[in-house]
Amino acid sequence: MQKGTIGVTTENIFPVIKKFLYSDHEIFLRELVSNAVDATQKLRTLSSFGDFKGELGELDVRVSIDKEAGTLTVSDRGVGMTAEDLNKYINQIAFSGAEEFLAKFKDKANTIIGHFGLGFYSAFMVAKKVVIETLSYQEGAEPVRWECDGSPEFTMDKGSRTERGTDIILYIDDDNKEFLEQLRIDTLLKKYCRFLPVPVISGKEQEWKDGKYVDTDRDLVVNATEPQWMKKPADLTDKDYLDFYHELYPGQDDPLFWIHLNVDFPFTLTGILYFPKIKNNFDIRKDRISLYCNQVYVTDSVEGVVPEFMMLMQGVIDSPDIPLNVSRSYLQSDTAVKKISSYITKKVASRLEDLFKADRSDFEKKWDDIRLFIIYGMLTDEKFCDAAMKFLLLKDTEGKYFTLDEYKTLVEANQTAKDGNIVYLYATDPTAQYTYIKAANDKGYNVLLLDGQLDNHFVQLMERKLEKTQLVRVDSDVVENLIRKEDKKEADLTPMQRSIMTTLFSSQVPEVEKTTFLVSFEAMSPTSAPIVITQNEYMRRMKDLATMQPGMSFYGEMPDSYMLVVNTEHPLVKAVRDEADNALDAKVEPLMSTVDEDNASIEAIRKGAKDGKLTAEEEKQVSDLEKAVAEARSEQEKLVKDYAEGQDMVKQLIDLALLGNGLLKGETLSRFINRSVSMLEKK
Ligand code: ADP
Ligand code: MG
Repeated sequence: MQKGTIGVTTENIFPVIKKFLYSDHEIFLRELVSNAVDATQKLRTLSSFGDFKGELGELDVRVSIDKEAGTLTVSDRGVGMTAEDLNKYINQIAFSGAEEFLAKFKDKANTIIGHFGLGFYSAFMVAKKVVIETLSYQEGAEPVRWECDGSPEFTMDKGSRTERGTDIILYIDDDNKEFLEQLRIDTLLKKYCRFLPVPVISGKEQEWKDGKYVDTDRDLVVNATEPQWMKKPADLTDKDYLDFYHELYPGQDDPLFWIHLNVDFPFTLTGILYFPKIKNNFDIRKDRISLYCNQVYVTDSVEGVVPEFMMLMQGVIDSPDIPLNVSRSYLQSDTAVKKISSYITKKVASRLEDLFKADRSDFEKKWDDIRLFIIYGMLTDEKFCDAAMKFLLLKDTEGKYFTLDEYKTLVEANQTAKDGNIVYLYATDPTAQYTYIKAANDKGYNVLLLDGQLDNHFVQLMERKLEKTQLVRVDSDVVENLIRKEDKKEADLTPMQRSIMTTLFSSQVPEVEKTTFLVSFEAMSPTSAPIVITQNEYMRRMKDLATMQPGMSFYGEMPDSYMLVVNTEHPLVKAVRDEADNALDAKVEPLMSTVDEDNASIEAIRKGAKDGKLTAEEEKQVSDLEKAVAEARSEQEKLVKDYAEGQDMVKQLIDLALLGNGLLKGETLSRFINRSVSMLEKK
């Protein structure tokens, strides 16, 4: 019998393991089962090279519980170990400064194991004693029994195994009795070992008999040894991909499409990524993609490994080249990971491009469902954005789809403004903005539909990416001004008319909560609406952004401010103007002259003052004049307001414009209806 001390450089590795790895005790099972699988694979390899000539037999891994003995055993029929192997691989833990290292990375300690040869020792997280019974595949090998009770001392002795392979027997300690429960073990095996390449057997299949489940004599295999992502894409049908998807994510709708990843160089990576249907409930779940390392499940949190926007996808990535032994922040700056991430991005983009090229109409059908994903990708990943410009589709309010090039060709001739910018018009709510869309269409303009949650940002992205292109919401100005092709035609109003009309209209705008209206005048076409309500593009964008970002509440709290644009060329407006001229000019004229004269006098006094200083007398004069101006102004205002009260036409025109924008509600709406009825009666 051999006795010895386990060759770790620290005094005693076990307390370290127990102390730092307390949170993830369960991974010991993953480590032991994957060792057993490794040993089995090694034997297969040796056999295929002719280095092992014996019978392979049934190569499986068994996990069994003996409750009475308090043991959990992982058995394999792999290469086994000689005493020499045990010395080399188990007794010498090639690990320097283990304690220091674990202390540094204690959060990620579970992923360190296995990558530093500590895998086997993780058994001591749950066991007070571990026994290895093993027999090497080599000819003439002797069985060996290794035993260790968690102190650095071990014993090695002649073993009892008669068949090639290894048993790892764990004497589960009192704190970890849960690992003697079949259900717990089965759950863990399902989690970590579901796709291991060697059959893993745990207990028996059960069947329903006489009102309860009973064991059959068939072994229960917990894993699928050949997961789809390890196969060649050419060997898989669409149904295979869909079946695999539903196996991974039971109870979900079919995915829209998928991408089979398969690279050997400069890193090894396989996997299948699925595009689920996301639509508009925009929740980025972080656990959609599972990460595997040689078919061993590692984690569901793939941040840093795949680009952020791919978090919307589902599926599996398998790569032995992702360094799991380091912290996440390091991961993000790791060049291997960066390469992997940019490879995946490229692959996703080129797959989308292929789909687009292969079947445009099918791509269009799926577009609404994948749009959110693509926009999100474009906004967060510059490279993806550039690639996506090739297959990005724009949809107009009639439901037609265009590529960027097609759209430019479509609108270039008719929608280029005087300044050389091509103006893309868009609507965010086709029902509410119906009249604006119609007005634009009547002018031969196309209107895009941008009603998605990220379209605020998308609009700005497009303006950045497309040359000499401007995006303008269809209701942000009257149709004549949306795309300015010639100098603006000035409204045909004298200063007095402008002054009267401003008061006339603004005094009749009903109160709308959290909303302000400014009145302006434009000479539009006589057939355009008499009044159009617009909302400034810039202000609206700011407000929209504010609702999505905290810290911009300044804009968010501002009232909505609309422009009430009065069309001075409209016959009804002209009639209002002429009527007001007749009724008010004679009275307003002298008041306006007073204001003008008094203002001129004030100016003259100020100019004449020496060193800009007024004498006491001059001060008095100025303040008297100012008072007179204010009085004349308010008198004029009162005159016009009183007059306006009786002007049903003005009220009616304003209310109609409000009505067209859904801004006429409650009491003002009912007043509008009553007024309409009485106006009809008068006719
Ligand atoms: P790793 O698996 O990363 O090499 P482990 O601590 O898990 O580190 O295992 C150490 C070594 O012990 C393995 O590399 C292997 O040589 C040997 N070993 C462990 N378990 C078995 C087994 N079931 N059969 C044969 N060899 C084993
Ligand atoms: Mg291992």
